[in-house]
Amino acid sequence: MPYTLSRRNLLRLAATPAVLALAQDRSSSTKWALLSDVHIPADPSGVYRGFRPVENLKKTVPAVGAFKPDGMIICGDLARLEGLPGDYETLGALVRPVAERTPVAMALGNHDDRKNFLTAFSSRPGEAQDVQGKWVSVLDAGPLRIVLLDSLLYVNRVAGLLGKAQRQWLETYLRSNQAPTVFFVHHTLDDGDGAMLDSQRFFEIIRPAKQVKAVFYGHSHRYRYDQEDGLHLVNLPAVGYNFNDAEPVGWVEALFRKDGGDFTLRAIGGNTEQSGKTVSLRWRSS
Ligand SMILES: [Zn+2]
Repeated sequence: MPYTLSRRNLLRLAATPAVLALAQDRSSSTKWALLSDVHIPADPSGVYRGFRPVENLKKTVPAVGAFKPDGMIICGDLARLEGLPGDYETLGALVRPVAERTPVAMALGNHDDRKNFLTAFSSRPGEAQDVQGKWVSVLDAGPLRIVLLDSLLYVNRVAGLLGKAQRQWLETYLRSNQAPTVFFVHHTLDDGDGAMLDSQRFFEIIRPAKQVKAVFYGHSHRYRYDQEDGLHLVNLPAVGYNFNDAEPVGWVEALFRKDGGDFTLRAIGGNTEQSGKTVSLRWRSS
């Protein structure tokens, strides 16, 4: 078994060496399930805008299993509002069928509590990076590297920040790592008061670093694709609930290659019109 259930009933989401070896063999392409904003409450009966986040994740997990990914990422807002230990306990139990088979990597959002998260998920896939006060990790995913950044600034308030230590780490990291890289970070990257407040400084760092191909983010509970100087910006839909009926609720199947990727929406609620549609992106050259 790739994880153990501790006395306190908390899950460890480590991948087995066999799973990691399999992922490394996939040097030409790799399949990942991309989720965001699952907003799991400790109490499974919670309803928000008519959606039940627990039911939505229960529906998503078998679909992810059928996709047989090399890994799954949840791009922040793991918990309902405040990142309570009970929220993470419920989340750990819900993702367990996927975590038994493949790495489940999670970034932190503004409705997460870093300390509670790190306690609940004591063993996490990827290589943890030494960034003061932040949870940053790097996953080696065949044709590319996946970097999970940490934009959690205040629990249960809207705005986010990478902060100086993480930006400095990022500059150093990109100087010595030239492999094609995609980032996952929770907050939106515009100049709004509820976005990642240092997103412009983030872009100043990654724009000239041509090995950076795409940034995936959540927070807005919207699904969209943009570009900034050939760098792809992908706003993942929310699994928990949308803020607006025009948006899908669901997740994205990703097929990453060295030169690009294919991304297929799997809507489970909200606006399902685009469900099953694939967006193909080509990475900018290094
Ligand atoms: Zn959210």
